[in-house]
Amino acid sequence: MFLVGKFIISIIFVLALLTSGQNSAALLSASTDTITFTRISSPYENIDWDNITRLKANLHSHTTASDGSATLQQMIDAYYAQGFDVVAITDHHAFGTDATHYDAGTGMLIIQGVEIGCWCGCHHFNAIFTDDYDVEWCSPNWTMCDDSPWTRDCARNMIRRYYEYTDAIIFLNHPGRHLQQYGFDWYVDIFDRFSQNQLIGLEVFNQANRHPEDLQLWDDLLTIFAPHRPIWGLGNDDAHNSTTHIGLSYNQLLVPSNTIQNVRNSITNAEFFFMTRSLEYRNPNWTNPMPVVNSININRQNFTITVDASIGDTTDPEIRWISRYGNLVGTGATIDFSELRGFVRFEIRAGGVGKFSQPFMLYTFEMEVPNRLPLWLGLAGGIIFAFIIADIVIYVDRKKRKKTRKT
Ligand SMILES: [Zn+2]
Ligand SMILES: [Zn+2]
Ligand SMILES: [Zn+2]
Repeated sequence: MFLVGKFIISIIFVLALLTSGQNSAALLSASTDTITFTRISSPYENIDWDNITRLKANLHSHTTASDGSATLQQMIDAYYAQGFDVVAITDHHAFGTDATHYDAGTGMLIIQGVEIGCWCGCHHFNAIFTDDYDVEWCSPNWTMCDDSPWTRDCARNMIRRYYEYTDAIIFLNHPGRHLQQYGFDWYVDIFDRFSQNQLIGLEVFNQANRHPEDLQLWDDLLTIFAPHRPIWGLGNDDAHNSTTHIGLSYNQLLVPSNTIQNVRNSITNAEFFFMTRSLEYRNPNWTNPMPVVNSININRQNFTITVDASIGDTTDPEIRWISRYGNLVGTGATIDFSELRGFVRFEIRAGGVGKFSQPFMLYTFEMEVPNRLPLWLGLAGGIIFAFIIADIVIYVDRKKRKKTRKT
């Protein structure tokens, strides 16, 4: 009789405990803590800052082979005079030179490429490290404007052809020229459609910053795609003459030595910065010194990136850290990235000129950790507790009966 009572009472307690646990799912979920880990992926990870060669590179230029006003040799000489090491010749649907080579006269590396823009409304892109172009692939009348349904698809189709048939490095040119017509979703689609090695990124600066909105577009796309699909930024002259178009916007490649393969690797892996002499729209500054990045150090224990930079005699220029939607998330040599999401990049702006890093990708891992006793421990405790209560109840009950018997 006592045993049965004890058993029934303990069952009731366990049931009560179970039901309370089931009914209060919200309470249970609220009883966990979220621990966040951030892992960083830096394009500058493998740079040996003490033994680096910095190459000045323009990856977009035109000659008389298309609508440029200077010949190939005039362009090479003009770039050499401005201290360039690398120039890509990218005429519209035409070739200014026959192959990627060193120019004997200047020692510069000349990269053969092509700018594609099949119709007037077709989004322009560059394919470099290729001398393949088949007129069958798209209309040779690239200047022709029409309302062909191809206009939205042509860049997409042509990028696919270049990717499939050549080993070109491909990036979108001057998106600001097309953004209004194409809309933001087109860029989301194309960077989603192609992988990072098929379409490496886009020009953020073209000539003297002809499309200042391109910086915001880049940040907005990175907000969507980082950290899983990097989009590299580039700065290029899109030079159409050998006088006023040279050295407006360019890339600084970080290579162990000046070889074609190293140049290719640094562009593919984003081991480069891009710079502009015209932070303001069509207002280049030719006199101010460009910022120099001496080293980048990542501390994974403290979740920080530290940049050692200088501009001329200034050893501590302001470094601006930018994250999602282009928001400024910090200034100074060091950024704590533990609370940041997606990506962070830095830029140094000084006197109308600017230097921009590629995005550092931030992978965030979240883990739910219970901050209360596990349920089974609670249950076991509950059962023991129920038995003790049952014992007390039975003890009291027994005493009561004894009393009753006495009376
Ligand atoms: Zn042109
Ligand atoms: Zn163009
Ligand atoms: Zn162009």
